[in-house]
Amino acid sequence: MQAHCVRGHPAGLLFRFGEGAAIELRCLRHALVQPQVLRTALTMSAVVGTILTIINQGNLLAGGHFPAQLAWKIPLTYSVPYCVSTFSALRISRVR
Ligand SMILES: [Zn+2]
Repeated sequence: MQAHCVRGHPAGLLFRFGEGAAIELRCLRHALVQPQVLRTALTMSAVVGTILTIINQGNLLAGGHFPAQLAWKIPLTYSVPYCVSTFSALRISRVR
């Protein structure tokens, strides 16, 4: 028998969230938008991304320079902690 996501559709890969009677199973797509996973990843992205941007590009930004390559470097810097946080949350939530 195939397990089902909290949204009702069958899913091969499931992730468990909550505890006690409030446990819910989610497929990958719905696990990625689980509110706690999303909130934690966005917070980590804001904090760690800002620190890394200051460390790596702070001298340029403080000097008033904004070279074109920062248009992709800064978003990439923020996306790394977001991905790490999301991956970690899903890794510990995966149902085996
Ligand atoms: Zn789902």
